[in-house]
Amino acid sequence: MSSIIQLLPDHVANQIAAGEVVQRPASVVKELVENAIDAGATDIKLICKDAGKTLIQVIDNGKGMSVTDARLCFERHATSKIRKAEDLFDLHTKGFRGEALASIAAIAHVELKTKQDQEELGSHLIIEGSKFVSQEPSVLPKGTSFSVKNLFFNIPARRNFLKSDTVELKHIIDEFQRVALAHANIHFTLYHNGSELFNLPQSNFRQRIVNVFSGKTNEKLVPVSEDTEIVKLTGFVGKPEFAKKNRGEQFFFVNDRFIKSGYLHHAIMAAYEGLLKDGSQPSYFLYLEVPPHTIDINIHPTKTEIKFDDEHALYAILRSAIKHSLGQFNVAPVLDFERDANLDTPYDYLNKSADMPLIQVDATFNPFAADDVSAKKETTSVSSSFSFKPKKETQSWESLYVGLKDAFEPQEMQFESETVTSSLFSDSEVEKAKTATYQIHKKYIVSPIKSGMLIIDQQRAHQRILYEQFLKNITVLQASSQQLLFPLTMYFSGNELGLLTELKPSLESTGFVFDTFNSESVVISGIPVTMTESEVSIVLEELIADLQDEIPESSFSQMDSMAKSMAKSMAVKTGTYLTETEQESIVNNLFACKEQSVSPFNKPTFITLSVEDIDKKFSI
Ligand code: ADP
Ligand code: MG
Repeated sequence: MSSIIQLLPDHVANQIAAGEVVQRPASVVKELVENAIDAGATDIKLICKDAGKTLIQVIDNGKGMSVTDARLCFERHATSKIRKAEDLFDLHTKGFRGEALASIAAIAHVELKTKQDQEELGSHLIIEGSKFVSQEPSVLPKGTSFSVKNLFFNIPARRNFLKSDTVELKHIIDEFQRVALAHANIHFTLYHNGSELFNLPQSNFRQRIVNVFSGKTNEKLVPVSEDTEIVKLTGFVGKPEFAKKNRGEQFFFVNDRFIKSGYLHHAIMAAYEGLLKDGSQPSYFLYLEVPPHTIDINIHPTKTEIKFDDEHALYAILRSAIKHSLGQFNVAPVLDFERDANLDTPYDYLNKSADMPLIQVDATFNPFAADDVSAKKETTSVSSSFSFKPKKETQSWESLYVGLKDAFEPQEMQFESETVTSSLFSDSEVEKAKTATYQIHKKYIVSPIKSGMLIIDQQRAHQRILYEQFLKNITVLQASSQQLLFPLTMYFSGNELGLLTELKPSLESTGFVFDTFNSESVVISGIPVTMTESEVSIVLEELIADLQDEIPESSFSQMDSMAKSMAKSMAVKTGTYLTETEQESIVNNLFACKEQSVSPFNKPTFITLSVEDIDKKFSI
C-alpha cells in the first residue's frame, strides 16, 4: 500500500496555528503590542478601524529589525527571544514562541515598516495570506510599524464569527489596558476610527491607574507593599466603600504580565472579609515580582494563566499584606452599611411646606389654680402645636394602618393624641377607605377590587412601568428632557466611555442630552424628566455595570437590556414609604402597561386574594 501521509504546506500549517493564536482582533493587538514592548519601545501607538476588523496598526520606537530579520520574523518558530529549551525557564520577554507574526500573516494583509537606529534605510514589506508581495528599502523613522488589515479575509467563517464592533472594541480596550497598566513607563495611545480613546503619558503606577480609569480613582486607592523571598508585592487595592458591582477593575500582573488567577483572587477576597457589601467587588491592581524560574508561563497558549511553584505561600502573603494595608489606612472599620432609617428626615416632612408656627397663649392660665384637667389639656396643646402643627386627619387615620409595622415610623410621629382619637371615625374617612390603596410593610400596595383584593409588589410593578416607558422612548417616541441648570460632568474609564458612546443614541431618546464626550468624561446638560439629578450617576453606573459584562449582540436586545437596567435602578425599592398618590399612580400605570402581570425580569407583579379565599380563612 502506498504511503499517504504528507507534510502540510507552510501556509496551511500557519493558518491552523493562527486559530490558536488569533481568536479575534484583540489577540492581534496583544501580540503586536507585546512585541513592541519586547523591542524596548518607550512610545507605542495603537490605531484601530472598525474595532480592528479593517485595520490594526501598532507603531513603536523600539529597536527595529534588520533587512533579514524583517523577512524572517514571519516564519513559524522564528524568534530572537529564546535559543534553547532552558531559556523557557528564565523568561524576561513577553513573547517566546515565534508564532504570532507567522499566524497573523497567514490570515490578513500585513504591512511592515521597520528600521534600526544605526541604519540609513529601513525595510518595507507587504505579505498577504503568508505570501510575500513585496520587500523594498525605504526611508523610515527608527522603530517598527505593523499594519494588519482585513483580518480573516481568507477565512470567511472566522470573519463572520466576529462579534459586533462594540464587543470587539471592548476586547481590544481590555487588552490595551492590561499592557498599559503593566508598563507605566511606556507612553501609550489608542485611536479608534479617528478619535483618541486613551493617551497615557509615561508615569508611575498610581498615575497610570488613574489615567486609565479616570481622575476619581485616585482617592480610592490604598497602597500595598510587601517584600519577601518568594515575591515582591507592590500595587494598590481599592477602599471597600468604592467596591463595584463588576470585576472590571481587578488586575494581577506577574513579572509585568497580566494574568488571571482564581486562587489569588480568593486570597484578596479573604483579606476583605467583612468589609464588603454582598456581591460587591473590590478594585485591585497588584504587581507581583517573582524569580522567573519559579513560574511556568507555558501552560496556556495565550499566556494569561501561569503556574506558581509555591501557590500556598503566595496566597498567605497576599492575604496578610492586603489586610495589613486596609487596616493601616484606616479603612477596615468602615462597617456602617446599614443606615438607621430613624435618623433620616421623615418622608412626609420633607414634602411639607414650611408652616408658620402657631403660638397659642392661654390667657386664663393661672399657675396657682388647682391642678384641674382642662388646664392641663390646654398646656399640652400649646407645646405640641408649637413644634408640629396638628396633622391632617387623613394622615392620622392612615397612620393606624401603616404604623402597624413599626410604631416608631418617623412619618407617623404624633403629638396630639386627643385630636387623633376624635377624628378617627369621621364619616369622610370611612367613605374614602372604600377606594383607597394601602401600603403594607413598605413593600406591597393593597387595593380592594370587586372580587376581593389586589396585592401589588411596589418594586416589581414600578420596574414594569418604567421598563415599558423607556422601551417606548428608545424605540418609538423620543422622550422630553429637563434642562439642568448646571451641566453635570461625569468621569469614566475608556472602556466605559466606549460603551456609553455606543449607547448614546438610545440614551438620548430617553431624554439625556450630552454636551461633550471626550476621552475621560461626559458633560450632561439634560436628563429624562422622570429622573432626578442625584439619580443620574447611579443609573449610568449601574447601566454600565449591567451591560459591560454581557454586551448584547443585536441592537434590539441592547435597547431591551438598557431599558431593563434603567428600570431596575430607578424603580422604587422595597422599604420605601409611598404616599397615597404615589400608590395610586403605580396601580393605575401598572394596569395601563402592555404586560401587567410580570416584571421585566419575569417575576409576578401582583396577586389577587378573592373574597372566597378570605372567607375560607375565617371558616375555621
Ligand atoms: P516572539 O515574540 O514569540 O518571538 P513573534 O512572531 O511575535 O514571536 O515575533 C518574531 C520576532 O520578530 C521576534 O522574536 C522579534 O525578534 C521580531 N519582532 C517582532 N515584532 C518586533 C518589533 N515591533 N520590533 C522589533 N522586532 C520585532
Ligand atoms: Mg511576539
